[in-house]
Amino acid sequence: MRARYRTVFSVVKRGRPLLAALLCVCACERPDPPAPLPLACSPEPTRTARLLARLTAAGQVVGDDLGPRICFAAGAGTVWPGQVISLPSDWADDPTAARLAHLLHHVREGRGLVAHEPRAGRDCEALVEEALREESRAHVVEMEVRATLGVTDPARRFVNEDEILGLPPTERAAAELAYLEAHPDGGGGYEPLGRDYRTRCLAEP
Ligand SMILES: [Zn+2]
Repeated sequence: MRARYRTVFSVVKRGRPLLAALLCVCACERPDPPAPLPLACSPEPTRTARLLARLTAAGQVVGDDLGPRICFAAGAGTVWPGQVISLPSDWADDPTAARLAHLLHHVREGRGLVAHEPRAGRDCEALVEEALREESRAHVVEMEVRATLGVTDPARRFVNEDEILGLPPTERAAAELAYLEAHPDGGGGYEPLGRDYRTRCLAEP
């Protein structure tokens, strides 16, 4: 899926010395407020807590500062500037948790989103391949979480999911990368990742 990336340093910091001082009493290591949520993306703290619990049950490492950065909106999910994670608002919990695992991979790794950054003369083919490589890793994580949680709804699985999960774990990401490169126009549960990354890269200065 698409994911937009900017570093947390792009978040506007407001001067609130008193609040900052109060925060420092109980959370000195993390005084910055979370990024504002995008419009039309609703925070749902109870649902978010349920999803994070499902991810933990599926063996995923979940940070304790994620809650304020997760919201729900139309679409299949994305990462907004400020590393805010938008999740699909109309999916069941378990597939949504698996999608969250995918997007968390992007937040943590970041490198898959280089095609969104100014390419500064770098070769688009190399950048697209790097982006697809990171997407392939994120997709495998998503598939593995779905399998762990027992998600069988074909509308929430990728068309090649059984094939990928049938491989030894160490071979899955490479096979998924080959699939993404062979299917730049998406389909079967995939967005047109290769096409979109390439188009966006070529449009960058
Ligand atoms: Zn992705």
